[in-house]
Parts: sequence; structure tokens; C-alpha cells
Amino acid sequence: MTETEHLGAGLLNRGVSRRSFMKYCVSLTSFMALPGSLAPVIAQTLGKARRQSVIWLSFQECTGCTESLTRSHAPAIENLIFNYISLDYHHTLQAASGEAAEAARNTAMALSSGKYLLIVDGSVPVNDRGVYSTIAGISNLQMLLTCAKDAAAIIAVGTCASFGGLPAAKPNPTGAVSVRELMHRGIIAGKPLVNISGCPPLPIAISGTLAHYLMFGRFPGLDDLGRPLAIYGNTVHERCSRLHFYEQKKFAKSFDDEGARKGWCLYELGCKGPLTHNACSTTRWNSGTSSPIESGHPCLGCSEPEFWDRGGFYENLIPEKAPAGSVAANIAESGEAVFESNCSYCHGPGPGSFRTLPEKIPELFGPEAPGVHRFNISDEELNNLVNYLKSPDKRGRL
Ligand code: SF4
Ligand code: SF4
Repeated sequence: MTETEHLGAGLLNRGVSRRSFMKYCVSLTSFMALPGSLAPVIAQTLGKARRQSVIWLSFQECTGCTESLTRSHAPAIENLIFNYISLDYHHTLQAASGEAAEAARNTAMALSSGKYLLIVDGSVPVNDRGVYSTIAGISNLQMLLTCAKDAAAIIAVGTCASFGGLPAAKPNPTGAVSVRELMHRGIIAGKPLVNISGCPPLPIAISGTLAHYLMFGRFPGLDDLGRPLAIYGNTVHERCSRLHFYEQKKFAKSFDDEGARKGWCLYELGCKGPLTHNACSTTRWNSGTSSPIESGHPCLGCSEPEFWDRGGFYENLIPEKAPAGSVAANIAESGEAVFESNCSYCHGPGPGSFRTLPEKIPELFGPEAPGVHRFNISDEELNNLVNYLKSPDKRGRL
């Protein structure tokens, strides 16, 4: 594809039919939460988009994010969109190495100063002046500082770049932090930033955000954690193909029991779908073939902050009911246990980061509650929770 060629022409030249392109634009329209009738307008605008200079930095990561986008078994429009950008620097994909690679990065930064898009995957180690990860003798932190300065905007791809990811798992020996954290601390320049979390993220989340930027020069609407609402606005649970079993309280108890064979809900095998914002249930993986839950594995919560430090992947979110009156039952019923079992996964350990008034908590549960709060909690447990959060030593922290 030439530098001046428009995206539409480039795709047609690569054998993508107009029908496939339109189909992709329809899914993009829904990604942008626009009415389906606007798909032809999106197709026209995207078709006329010009190449965008992109510098992609990979820090403490596993290459899974790049693999997610580029290694689909058949050429999909997602990777053709990716091929369309001017990827001026990418550790894994570039042919150049050593001094030639660093020269390419410096040239791209100079030629497109203020215009290039910076994509980061992997977290950034900051302990001991960032010695734990270097490229060409330059610490990740220093490279990010330099590249962020003249970037037009930054895309943090994957849970590591978005929230610290596995490298930040306790005790976090390298001091791994996210791009957003560095921006909040004022260490790197403040720029428009979008987080595409997931371990790895869905290809449509990456390519759709890129396509949106190519068309409008800005990012789509974002949630509180800086993620595109169109992908992360719902939980995996809300659109899950096993949801009717959850509502009928039909749960698989092991991976090879009758319930598992019948496709029952995986909640009691540790599924974190009710607390995890991602579009795996709707867009699915491998060109829409299936999703982890459809294939029989519970959601691990990979698109949420600290998913690796929030209890075992196969631990039930609902505490086991112990015999009434036993010490275990008393502990399970205490407000603190209710908080730790039900609230801390999203709201963090202890009530320190909890902002809701205790009196308002009962309104957040029940059939009309937001999806994320639609789980079983008894009146007694709710009462214990409210009393726990009302207690004087906790109230001061609300
Ligand atoms: S708990 Fe998990 S398996 Fe069950 S319906 Fe929700 S997302 Fe699907
Ligand atoms: S189902 Fe859950 S753990 Fe699996 S990819 Fe989706 S968000 Fe991540």
C-alpha cells in the first residue's frame, strides 16, 4: 500500500470485498454505539482515511497482545486495518534491529512530531530507576517519557499497560505501573489516553479503537477506567450464553460432572463474568468462533485491574454456606466477610476506597439492580454489610 493510498482502496487492492468491508463497518458502527443506519457513512469515512504514523513500544509483557491482533489463522479485516497504519517502530514485527531500529523510531518521531499515535503494551518498571527492563540500553520509563512527549495520543494495549498486569502482581518487585498511573503522577506528558484491557484484548477492541481514531482523530466514549464503553460497557455475564442456567440456579460443580456436560453456568467453578467488563460473550474469539466460557472455562476476569491478586481463579465468588451456628457460619455472616467476598473484587480490599453511603447499599441489589450487582445476597448478609460499613472506625474512611 502506498503512503498516499486511502484505506478503502488499500483493502480492495488486498482482495477484501466491498461486502466484507461493509460487514466490518456495521460491527464498527455498533462498536461506536451509533445507529446501524450510519454504517454506509462509516464505510465512506473510513474508506477515505489516510495512513497514520504509529510507534508501538513493548515493555514488561508477553507479546500476547500483538499475537491477538496479528495471528488470527485467516487474514481478517482487523489485521488488514492494522497493516494499513504506518507502523514505524514495533519490537516484535519490525525487520530492523539494533541501531537501525532506534534510528527508525527517532526518524518517525521527528517527521510526525505531535501527530504520531503511541501504542504501549506491557507495564513500566520504576523501581531502582527502571533497570529491570531496557531496550537498546534505554530504560522503559525513559523511552516512554521521550516518546510520549510529542505523541498526539496514547493507546495502552492489554491489562499490563492499562493497569500494571501480571508484572505488578504482589509483591511487584520491579515496581511495575501502568501508563495511566505514570500520567496521573505527572511523570509522563498528559495526552489523550485509552486503555484496551484484556490478557490479551479482543482484536476488535484494538482495531476498532484504531479505526475510530483514523476516522475522527479522537477516541470513542470511555468508562471510568479509560476503556471504550462499546467494548467494556457490559459485563461478560450480561450477554453470556449460559445466563439462563445462572438464572435457573443450574451450576456445574466440577469440570466433568453432568452439569458441565449440559453446559450449565460456571459460576461455582470460579467464573468472574459477573464482575468483568468485556465483550467476549458477544464478539467471541478466533473470528467469532467461540469464547472461553462457551468452550467450558470460567472467565478469569482478565480485563479488570488486579485480576491476578483477587483470589484463586477457580474459587467460587459466593462463600460456601457453613452449617448454621458454627464458627465458620458466624464468620461468613459477618459484614466484613460479606464485603471481602462480594465487594472487594471490584471496590478493592477493605472499605477504604468504597464511596457509597452504607444506607444506600440495599438499593443497589435486587432484580432491578445493575448487572454487576445481580448476584445472590441474603437480607441478613446485606444487613451485616451495612452495619459493618456504618461502624465508627469504618465510617471515617468512607
Ligand atoms: S457466571 Fe459466568 S458462566 Fe455463569 S452466566 Fe455468568 S458469565 Fe456465564
Ligand atoms: S472470558 Fe474473561 S478471562 Fe476470558 S478473555 Fe474474556 S474477559 Fe478475559
